[in-house]
Amino acid sequence: MAPTEDSIIATSSPPHFVLVPLAAPGHMIPMADLALLIAERGARASLVTTPVNAARLRGVVERARHAKLPLEIVALPFPPPAAAGDEDDVVLPPGFENIDQIKDNSHFLPLFQAIHRLAGPLEAYLRAQPQARRPSCIVADWCNSWTAAVATRVGVPRLFFHGPSCFYSLCDINVATAAEHGLVPEDESEAYAVPGMPVRVEVTKATGPGFLNSPGFEAFQEEAMEAMRTADGAVVNTFLGLEEQFVACYETALGKPVWALGPFCLVNNSRQDVASRGHDESSGADLQSAVTAWLDAMEPGSVVYASFGSLARKLPGQLFEVGHGLEDSGKPFLWVVKESEVASPEAQAWLDALETRTAGRGLVVRGWAPQLAILAHGAVGGFVTHCGWNSVIESMAHGVPVVTWPHFADQFLNEKLVVDVLGAGVSVGAAVAPVKLFDDEAVLVLRGDVARAVSELMGDGEAAEERRKKAREFGERAHRAVEKGGSSYENLTRLIQIFGENGRSPQGNLKL
Ligand code: UDP
Repeated sequence: MAPTEDSIIATSSPPHFVLVPLAAPGHMIPMADLALLIAERGARASLVTTPVNAARLRGVVERARHAKLPLEIVALPFPPPAAAGDEDDVVLPPGFENIDQIKDNSHFLPLFQAIHRLAGPLEAYLRAQPQARRPSCIVADWCNSWTAAVATRVGVPRLFFHGPSCFYSLCDINVATAAEHGLVPEDESEAYAVPGMPVRVEVTKATGPGFLNSPGFEAFQEEAMEAMRTADGAVVNTFLGLEEQFVACYETALGKPVWALGPFCLVNNSRQDVASRGHDESSGADLQSAVTAWLDAMEPGSVVYASFGSLARKLPGQLFEVGHGLEDSGKPFLWVVKESEVASPEAQAWLDALETRTAGRGLVVRGWAPQLAILAHGAVGGFVTHCGWNSVIESMAHGVPVVTWPHFADQFLNEKLVVDVLGAGVSVGAAVAPVKLFDDEAVLVLRGDVARAVSELMGDGEAAEERRKKAREFGERAHRAVEKGGSSYENLTRLIQIFGENGRSPQGNLKL
């Protein structure tokens, strides 16, 4: 959408927001949506990343150019390996700039170390901006704590963007405080109630995991917590009609403003917007047409969509349980399988056989699927999700209830929110996180669990109707939140006004 006179916010000078996403699809996609939201309201938005990631944002650039939006992608060169004898023992393969390219768990730490070395180039970029485009505010991913020192040196206010639900973020802060007071049980499997929550939330160490808490990441996590403490505020991809009490409690716990501006995904409102979202393949529009044509032939609300986000990868043992579970549920399904999951001839043959058996009621998409187009289609009545927050909020924004199968990070708490608090989901019963983020060999969920949860979600009973009704209500509230007069729309208006008027004052003097 091109900015209209009505949507553009009058400020003494349009502010310039410099957005620094973490290099992972589940972090870059919402930040790109946020950049579009900001630019559509007349403020300048620059997305700072590296060349491989910038190429993936080509669709955003095209869209901004077409609509004459003040949005640009800044591609800083990917940092070279640290000097010999320095921190990195493992050298990243060339062209590895995004977490979804990692095939070996040992590449995680070197990627984060390399990303941290973007501090110098970011500072140089900020200092090089002409007066008319002087940065007003840095919005950096929570994991990009290295931006904190840069912002201080350059004298630019900084907000952090935390990807998960506010429910998760509030639990995380409260668990950290409890841990400082020795209130978190040592035993991985012992359940305890998270203190300071407005509702009762029980977690174990194994299901309350957070970000950057793997061995080797201790310094990064500490730095991220410190950067959170020193930030000027937070931007979150949620809306008051979904999480009002948690946004309010999170704001109190943080002691700084929390700007709920979501669901960001609703900035994508045309077929083209959706086709190019999150990937740089030119085949996106063709795939979207094929998927839409298949869905068009299905009954309204009859199809269950199954996808596990951009990172989680299943080995054949677990993958086969998903496929058999969908087949055994007897419901029409649209299942997204990653190319790497069916790379072996054995997995390929198994999938071919499944497709033959379920022809007419099952569609398997290999690779990247147009998730928003699928969720927006009237034939889709449920979503089997790994509970990445983007997937959950995209589902709620489109009024689609979910089967929850959390894998790691914030996902177990996002599950609790959607099942226990919002009443819009059925749990598949995943009890623990995989030991390894990628390619864990454990088979944690069986076909019977998948079939049972899908049947419950898509069934006719009173509970299923109630979940559908709740999801529909959240969908309606989501759309109202981003319309003029809605909470997210007006929060963004205020944010832009603040930085347009006094955002250039030194850090600490902001009147947020
Ligand atoms: N996504 C998509 N197509 C796919 C897989 C993922 O469009 O085939 C998008 C999805 O819509 C969401 C993001 O990628 O915006 C995944 O983020 P999420 O937080 O759900 O999970 P993560 O990938 O971070 O685990």
